[in-house]
Amino acid sequence: AYGKRVVINVLTLVCELIWHIFKIIIDIFDFYFFKGYWDQPDYINAVAAICTYLEPLILLKQLQAIENQQGRVRYSQRWVARTLDLDLLIYGNEQINIPELIVPHIGIAERAFVLYPLQELAPELNIPGKGAIAELIQNCPISGLERLAAWFCKQIPLSSYP
Ligand code: ADP
Ligand code: MG
Repeated sequence: AYGKRVVINVLTLVCELIWHIFKIIIDIFDFYFFKGYWDQPDYINAVAAICTYLEPLILLKQLQAIENQQGRVRYSQRWVARTLDLDLLIYGNEQINIPELIVPHIGIAERAFVLYPLQELAPELNIPGKGAIAELIQNCPISGLERLAAWFCKQIPLSSYP
């Protein structure tokens, strides 16, 4: 129901929020936006790769802090109802299974709105305990997803990290 321009402006703001909070520690490579027609209302998904020294649980807390911060921002009356959900999809090769954190994310292998942007970001990816993304995606039709835009942030190759 929102124009693409509004959506992309908001997503860009979210990207910048993430950037400002993690600045020293991480870099964001790519964002890909998809529009899903899953339930209603429509929602937008993006996947980002970040480089961080934060332990998984600390990283999760940081993501939740961004969610909280975003929740306080008021764009207009209509945006008040919107929520931001930042999930930790994968953390290197680790498999974590504790009440607060399941990694890889529990729905990662079945959700088109995760797999398609993730594949664009990392086509060779092997999802720990689940398999190659190229194979997972074959069982996951793209129907209902529409690519909105790509947003490029700080593109720093992994090899430049100490
Ligand atoms: P959703 O499941 O829709 O993302 P929430 O964002 O409210 O719902 O998350 C609920 C809980 O899921 C969080 O409190 C968090 O502890 C837990 N959780 C478990 N694994 C993960 C993960 N990989 N990424 C984000 N949250 C996770
Ligand atoms: Mg979540």
